[in-house]
Amino acid sequence: MKKIIVTVLTVIMTTAILAGCGSKSASAKDTLIVGTNAAFPPFEYAGADGSPEGFDIALINAVGEKMGKKIEVKDMEFDSLVASIGNKIDMAIAGMTVTEERQKTVDFSQSYYNAVQTVIVPVDSAIASYDDLLDKKIGVQLGTTGDFTAEDIVGEGKGAEESQYNKAVDAVNDLLNGRLDCVIVDTNPAEVFVGQYSDQLKAIDGSEFGFEPEEYAIALPKGDKELLEAVNKAIDELKADGTYDALVKEYIEK
Ligand code: GLN
Repeated sequence: MKKIIVTVLTVIMTTAILAGCGSKSASAKDTLIVGTNAAFPPFEYAGADGSPEGFDIALINAVGEKMGKKIEVKDMEFDSLVASIGNKIDMAIAGMTVTEERQKTVDFSQSYYNAVQTVIVPVDSAIASYDDLLDKKIGVQLGTTGDFTAEDIVGEGKGAEESQYNKAVDAVNDLLNGRLDCVIVDTNPAEVFVGQYSDQLKAIDGSEFGFEPEEYAIALPKGDKELLEAVNKAIDELKADGTYDALVKEYIEK
């Protein structure tokens, strides 16, 4: 009898230890914690009740459903997402561009959308080419590809200055009140921000400045092949069954 009790207790304890083990692969968990930064419309923004909504949130919930996992979205600063993958969060979806630098720390799913850095300027601005940016005050969101683009422009040494904000919308506000000459941010958020102030602001496509096209993907823990394959398979299925197109229509092309 004693032996049986000891065996049962051992099994229970081992199960409990394994279940609570933080290092187990995300693909073995029932609930995946997904980091985002809800300040990047139309991909993610705070909904009426304050919780994150948008294309990325709908997409990751659909991916979770295909994978048979619950999704819990965690709103964080964009700049802290990559370093949190594999510890505070299982993955991140945040209109995040695939870059070589980020690929040193995380793996990326297949790409699910394209963008290019876009320059928001006052309607009467003379800014029209890359050279025009070389001596300007540029606002960006910290840790984004817009930030890296502005760093390159400042690095040309012709007098450009960069201001980094935690939210792109705060940069847009400083552009509206005259503290900045332009804001560099991704295509779709730029369209949303300009749409709110179309009498004061305009968006110029990054191709006018020679900026490279970018691809968005879901950031995953480095080396978790099982999780990467499951996420890619789910995205394939969503593209094949029309869900992906429906979400694009609902959130981006509305
Ligand atoms: N696509 C940009 C990047 O990855 C901006 C993303 C964001 O601000 N959410 O850096």
